[in-house]
Amino acid sequence: MALQGLLGRTNWRDKAGIQSEADSRNAEFMAERVAELEERVDRLALLSMAMWTLLKKNTELDDEELMKQVTALDLQDGKLDGSVYASVIECPECHRPVSRRHRKCLYCEHDLGSNGAFDGVVR
Ligand SMILES: [Zn+2]
Repeated sequence: MALQGLLGRTNWRDKAGIQSEADSRNAEFMAERVAELEERVDRLALLSMAMWTLLKKNTELDDEELMKQVTALDLQDGKLDGSVYASVIECPECHRPVSRRHRKCLYCEHDLGSNGAFDGVVR
């Protein structure tokens, strides 16, 4: 009985150790993923700033017009939330909720339309 209890405790410790190693690897993977995403966001911010600088220099556009356009695009999905599209929309055919990432409704295969050049970029 005492031996069983000891074995059970050792087994539990082994499982905890394995779980701890898995958590550690997962945390390391997530930290690398966050670093990659931060690098991509920094690169996109730099490209956006470069394009806007060129546009302001070579056109009559100004910051006020840019912000009006940002607000207009944000409001396309009916919500001023800093996002271009709602992540979930109602299928116009079967009225079920579907992710905007899909081009066809998963339930009725209704064509949900395209985001044009931004397919695969906008969620
Ligand atoms: Zn549908």
